[in-house]
Amino acid sequence: MKELDVFEKWPFKVPNFDKVKAKEKELIENFKNASSEEEALRIVKTYFKETSKVDNELTHIGVLYSIDTRVKKYEKAMDLINEMGPELQALNVEFNKAVLNSKYRPYLEKKLGSFLFKMYDYSLRSFDDSIVEDSVEENKLTMEYSKTIASAKIEFRGETYNLPQMGKFMQDLDRETRKEASKAYYAYLETIKDKLEDIYDKLVKVRDRMAKKLGYKNYVELAYINMSRYDYNEADVKGYREQINQVVTPLVEKLVKAQLKRTKIKNPQIYDLNLTFADGNPMPFGTTEDKIKNAQKMYDEMSKETSEFFKFMDEHHLLQLEAKEGKQSGGYMTYFPVYKTPIIFSNFNGTAGDVDVLTHEFGHAFQGHLAKDIKIPAYHMPTMESCECHSMSMEFFAHPYMGYFFDNPEKYKYKHLEESISFLPYGVTVDHFQEWVYENPDATPDERDAKWHELELKYTPYKVAYYGDNTYLMEGHRWLLQSHIFTSPFYYIDYTLAQVIAFQFFNLDRKNHELAWKRYIALCKNGGKYPFRDLIKKAHLKDPFVDGTIKSTITPLIKELKSYKID
Ligand SMILES: [Zn+2]
Repeated sequence: MKELDVFEKWPFKVPNFDKVKAKEKELIENFKNASSEEEALRIVKTYFKETSKVDNELTHIGVLYSIDTRVKKYEKAMDLINEMGPELQALNVEFNKAVLNSKYRPYLEKKLGSFLFKMYDYSLRSFDDSIVEDSVEENKLTMEYSKTIASAKIEFRGETYNLPQMGKFMQDLDRETRKEASKAYYAYLETIKDKLEDIYDKLVKVRDRMAKKLGYKNYVELAYINMSRYDYNEADVKGYREQINQVVTPLVEKLVKAQLKRTKIKNPQIYDLNLTFADGNPMPFGTTEDKIKNAQKMYDEMSKETSEFFKFMDEHHLLQLEAKEGKQSGGYMTYFPVYKTPIIFSNFNGTAGDVDVLTHEFGHAFQGHLAKDIKIPAYHMPTMESCECHSMSMEFFAHPYMGYFFDNPEKYKYKHLEESISFLPYGVTVDHFQEWVYENPDATPDERDAKWHELELKYTPYKVAYYGDNTYLMEGHRWLLQSHIFTSPFYYIDYTLAQVIAFQFFNLDRKNHELAWKRYIALCKNGGKYPFRDLIKKAHLKDPFVDGTIKSTITPLIKELKSYKID
């Protein structure tokens, strides 16, 4: 294969959708009329190749647009993609259906693996022409939510800021700044509260309707299918949440007490919890270029594979890290199936978050790279909870090298580990809340807020204790800020599951680095060939759903936290 060019030189191409659709339809027809099992398999492989080609082009357009949303030709291409999306999905489902119903199915299953057939089966169970209109309405509502949040304008000390920009003031070292910023922030949220409650109310109704049209009891059932949860169910998740509540909630309560003692704040309020150390939160040194150089040193030392692969990404300009005008917010990794390479996108802003996002997204990218020889596209990457294992574990494999980024690496490591632990009770709150909402689709907005408050008291009472006179938080509106609840329903427990897996890699890494690394590489190479629990078992890790796993995973972390020199 020809040597890959640097990212900027890749040819920009908008697929001709009429041709794409015609080609896919033809392949589906040919498949249905295949006269032998070998021919059927050959057509399936051609179909994979065709869709990968289109996927590669669509991914390219998406990345270019996210890097500079001001460019008209990218915007136009994006609009076209959004318009064509449902039609391409419908064709895909048609193909999946044909494969599932093929008379050559036993042969195909032997050649392609039965797991693929399970995936196809799920894709059919979550789609039907009767829900297309509802689905369009759902998209409109989630876009309205995102727009409302993105267009927030908060007046603070003579300037105007959006919601994320207020973050840095709310964790400022100066207490008065934190207090004032927090006041302005929540006063603004109060003004859009009713609008957000209304959007959500409509979303709940439309999702409930879709679930019932497809024959499900409620939306929870449909959501588990949508999220491709092949090997765990609501009951498993319930038990898992209980484990978190029993083991992690009391631990975080202690950590918060220790934090407030450390920062010596009298009569602490919720905005004081953002400050981890009395002298401020750890900040990385250097420019973005310095950070890339230092990351190269880190990955050189970590392993031969990480060294070569990070160098490859840097040389091909696949590390798009700097915040720039016109760039979309956030961070992500995506993969080009034809070029067989990932790309990392982020918005460095000089905080410790830069290092988190770099190691996290590199973990995703490294997995994409390690699994690049998997021939069947659906097996290249697993479901969301498993994908997050690759990235969140990499954040911890990077711990020994934090001296390359911070003057006081111990403080960074402490904060990173502490935040990762505290995330678990919050994460399960978000999941428990959604489950209740969709089991009670007729609840009023007030009843939902009351439920949220009740769940906060159960899982994160150590936060509620400092809400003070903040009525927005006291009245249970905090969930309105958790975008996943609106835009990616039930995708949240995934992060917590992956966090538990990352902790296990971290614990093993402390005891036996070679073994931990070997198992991590094997997990990445397995891609999406198996569902979550099988992947975990094959990596010799403990299953988060099994009682006792949370306790045995968390216990060594307490000792680890105590070992850091942070005073
Ligand atoms: Zn991730």
